[in-house]
Amino acid sequence: MAPVTTTQRTVLAGARVVLPSGVVEGGRLTVEGARIAANEAAERESTLTVDLAGHTVVPGFVDIHNHGGGGASFTSGTADDILTGVRTHREHGTTTVVASTVTNALDVLARQAALLSELVEQGDLAGIHYEGPFISPCRKGAHDEALLRDPDPADVRKLVEAGRGAARMVTLAAELPGGIDSVRLLADLGVIAAIGHTDATYEQTLEAVDAGATVATHLFNAMPPLQHRAPGPIAALLEDERVTVELINDGTHLHPAVLELAFGSAGADRVAFITDAMDAAGFGDGHYDLGPMKVEVLDGVARLVEGGSIAGSTLTLDTAFKRAVTLDGLSLNDAVKAISTNPARLLGLADRIGTLEPGKDADLVVLDAAYDLVGVMRKGEWVVRPH
Ligand SMILES: [Zn+2]
Repeated sequence: MAPVTTTQRTVLAGARVVLPSGVVEGGRLTVEGARIAANEAAERESTLTVDLAGHTVVPGFVDIHNHGGGGASFTSGTADDILTGVRTHREHGTTTVVASTVTNALDVLARQAALLSELVEQGDLAGIHYEGPFISPCRKGAHDEALLRDPDPADVRKLVEAGRGAARMVTLAAELPGGIDSVRLLADLGVIAAIGHTDATYEQTLEAVDAGATVATHLFNAMPPLQHRAPGPIAALLEDERVTVELINDGTHLHPAVLELAFGSAGADRVAFITDAMDAAGFGDGHYDLGPMKVEVLDGVARLVEGGSIAGSTLTLDTAFKRAVTLDGLSLNDAVKAISTNPARLLGLADRIGTLEPGKDADLVVLDAAYDLVGVMRKGEWVVRPH
């Protein structure tokens, strides 16, 4: 590659731009190099103007729970596989992605974490999320029951260390022996303790939040349902202002009315849209492995071959965003919070990504009038050139 001698300056003109302060019609976004230089009318003439009239520009999407895509797995793939998954989701607007593993033997997870940490180091991934093995056998979903274990803090620490500074989140069932101590440990280590695949009561869940848990792993899925005499984890996680709740907005994992209920209860600042995607996302139906488990994907719905549990999704975040603003009735600003701003804040990256503000990375998604994705820019480079 030839050395870059002058900073490329691009003005994206004419689009509706979704800023934290509100939606601007006919806005101008100035990109210099990898960064956003201005989100208002630029003073000087630029070298390159891209006309985006009729389009909407939103911040690049941030996915904190994702197991793969494009036929490739973050959970068990090689470095090339992982990059295939990253590229696939980038083409669907996810400019920042955390790689999620599934339950496996500790040494297998540690080996995969070492590989994932290299890709975090080189900037292709934003971190590692361990989903399992410290989860409840009663709510195991698509995880291999034989490999589940109680959250012994020594084991939790071992996995965090295997990530060489790249571990960002651990999903665990805090009601299991060692659960509360493990939540405390994770909070001390600066790693998100996420409550999920749990059979906890309402009271046990509040105890976990008091101990430092801050995320609900795919709220509603893989936990006891909300009942009027047994509110369970859902009520506790929705009501506590310290918690951000993950929601899978694919129309399969959650009924739209439940999504609306969660939004109304938690408020737009405490929701994070995730994909929980597996290899088939952006790829197609067929047979896949999810860690040690066999999965069949039919009509875009992933289920375990044995038992039929839902096994992740085939969702990409461009679809989640379109659903949010066209079917779920969310405002553009609320949808952007759930898909970019809030997850960026959870990752401690709010100063770099999550909104279209000067000084931040030029990570953005261009949508047409029907909210279909027509362009993606990451760090000032087009991943998908607007068409
Ligand atoms: Zn998952």
